[in-house]
Amino acid sequence: MPTPQHTVLALCPLLPPEMARLEAHFHVVRLYNENDPESALQAVKNDVVAIISNPNTPVRASLMEALPALEIVTQFAVGTDNIDLPMAKTRGIAVTNTPDVLTDDTADIAVALLLALSRRIVEADMFVRIGKWGQSPMPLGVTPKGKTVGIVGLGRIGQAVAKRLTAFDMRVVYHGRQQKADIAYGFYPDLVRMAADCDYLIATVSGGAATQNMINEDVLTALGPKGYLINIARGSVVDEAALIAALQKGAIAGAGLDVYAHEPNVPKELKSMDNVVLLPHIGSATIETRTIMGEIVLANLQAHFSGKPLITPV
Ligand code: NAP
Repeated sequence: MPTPQHTVLALCPLLPPEMARLEAHFHVVRLYNENDPESALQAVKNDVVAIISNPNTPVRASLMEALPALEIVTQFAVGTDNIDLPMAKTRGIAVTNTPDVLTDDTADIAVALLLALSRRIVEADMFVRIGKWGQSPMPLGVTPKGKTVGIVGLGRIGQAVAKRLTAFDMRVVYHGRQQKADIAYGFYPDLVRMAADCDYLIATVSGGAATQNMINEDVLTALGPKGYLINIARGSVVDEAALIAALQKGAIAGAGLDVYAHEPNVPKELKSMDNVVLLPHIGSATIETRTIMGEIVLANLQAHFSGKPLITPV
C-alpha cells in the first residue's frame, strides 16, 4: 500500500478533490506551484517515486535520470508524446495514461470547431456585441451538409468525430498508417491525395516524431482555398509556419485549432485572423472528464504501490 513516505512529484494539478485524495495517501510536491522549481526538485529528488504529468509538462530523459527512485509516470491525458518513452522503458519506469474517458468530449470540440468555422459563430457573436447587426450584412457561412471530411488518424477520437459528422450528413474518409478492416469509410494511404478531395481536414492523430509536421505546405495546398483545417491532436502534427503562410495567402479558407506548436504561446499572426478559431487546448476540459481522468491517475498509483496490475498501462 502507498504510504506518506512515497513522494509524488506533481508537474500539473488534478482537480481539487482528486488532489486531496492524492495527498491523503502520498507526500505530494506541487512543482507547478514552486517559485524556484529547480531548488524544490533538488530537495526531494532522491525520494520521488512517481510523477504526475500532462501534455504541457515534458518528462525528458534528464528528469528521469535526476530521480533515482522513480517507478512510475502517470500521465493526466491520453497522448504521451511529452514523455521520453524509450528512456522510461530502459529504466523500467511504468507509464500510464487516461484513454477512452476523454474521447467523446474531445470529439465534441472537433465538431464545435467545424461548426464555428463553417457558420462563423465567433465572428457572429462579435458582430452582435459590437453593434454591427442592422448596420451591415453579416457575411454568409458555408454548409457542412454533403461535404467531405478527411480524418487524419482514425483512432478512438477520430472514430468518435466521424460518427458525429455522419449524423450531419457529411461524407467521411480517413488517412492512417493502414486501412482498417472493420471500417467502411474510404481510406487514403496518401495524405495529400486525401486533402485534395476534402472540404475539411481534421487531425486526430497521435503526436510525436513519426507525425511531426505531417500536415505541411503540400497538404494545405491540396486542401485548397475552400478547405478548412481543424487540429485537436497536437500542435506538432501541423507545420505551424506553413499554416500561417497558407492562411495569409488564402491557400486554405480557415483553421480551427485547439493545440499549438509551443503552448501556451499562440502566434500573433493567427490571433489577428477572422477565419481562425482558437481554443486553449480544452479537448478534455469538462468537470466530468477531468474528474474521471484524475480518478484513473489515482487508481494507477494505488495499483502500482499495492503491487497490483496497472489500470491503463502505456
Ligand atoms: P488513438 O486511438 O491511439 O488514435 C491515434 C491514431 O493516430 C490512430 O488511428 C493511429 O493509427 C494514428 N497514428 C499514429 N501514428 C501515426 C502515424 N505515424 N501516421 C498516421 N497515423 C498514425 O488515440 P486517441 O485516443 O484517439 O487520441 C489521439 C490523439 O488526440 C492523442 O494522441 C492526443 O495527442 C490527442 N488528444 C488531444 C486532446 C485535446 O485536448 N485537444 C485530448 C485528447 C487527445 P493506428 O490506428 O494505425 O494505430
